[in-house]
Amino acid sequence: MSYYIDNSGRDSWLARSYVWALLQGLVVAVKRVFSGARRTVRKRLLEEEKAERILPPGYRAEHRLLVNENDEPRCTVCQACAEACPSKCILVEGQQGADDGSGSRLDAFTIDLGKCAFCGLCVSACPVDALRMDTGRLPVPRTKREDMIYDKDKLLNNQADGQSRLSRCL
Ligand code: SF4
Ligand code: SF4
Repeated sequence: MSYYIDNSGRDSWLARSYVWALLQGLVVAVKRVFSGARRTVRKRLLEEEKAERILPPGYRAEHRLLVNENDEPRCTVCQACAEACPSKCILVEGQQGADDGSGSRLDAFTIDLGKCAFCGLCVSACPVDALRMDTGRLPVPRTKREDMIYDKDKLLNNQADGQSRLSRCL
C-alpha cells in the first residue's frame, strides 16, 4: 500500500529553512546564560556579605571618641584634629581645658563622613588619644547626606563589639 503526503503549502519557506527555529533556540540559550550569570553574581554577593571581613592592622575605619576614667569625653577641645583635617569635615565646640582634660567641656563634636578622606591625620594630631579610627566598621554608602554626619553621641558609642571606650594610653 502506498501513501501520498502532500507538503504543498504546509510550511512557509521561513519554517522550512530552519532560520526561525534557529533564532528561537538562540533566544532560549541567551536567556539561560544571563539568568545563570545573575544567579551566580547574587550568590557571590550573599556569600561576601556573610563572610567575616578581616581588615589589616591599622586599617582606618569609622571614627570613635574615647572617654577618661570618669566616663567623660577625653577630648580637651584643643581643635588640633579640626585644624589638621584636609577635608575640613570636623567641627569641635566647647570650652578648652588643660592638657589633662580638666576644665574642658565638649559641647559638640561632629565628623561628616561624607567629606572625610579617611587619611587619619585627625587621629595623629590628637595629643590625648581622644579620637581613634579602629572601630573596624567600613563606612557604608547612605541615601541621605545627613546620615553621614556623626555627632558626639554617635562617636562616643561607635565602639566595635567588645571594644572599651576608655582610653588607657595616658
Ligand atoms: S580622617 Fe582625614 S579627612 Fe577624615 S576627618 Fe580625619 S583628618 Fe579629616
Ligand atoms: S585633637 Fe583630640 S583633644 Fe583636640 S579637639 Fe580633636 S579630639 Fe579633641
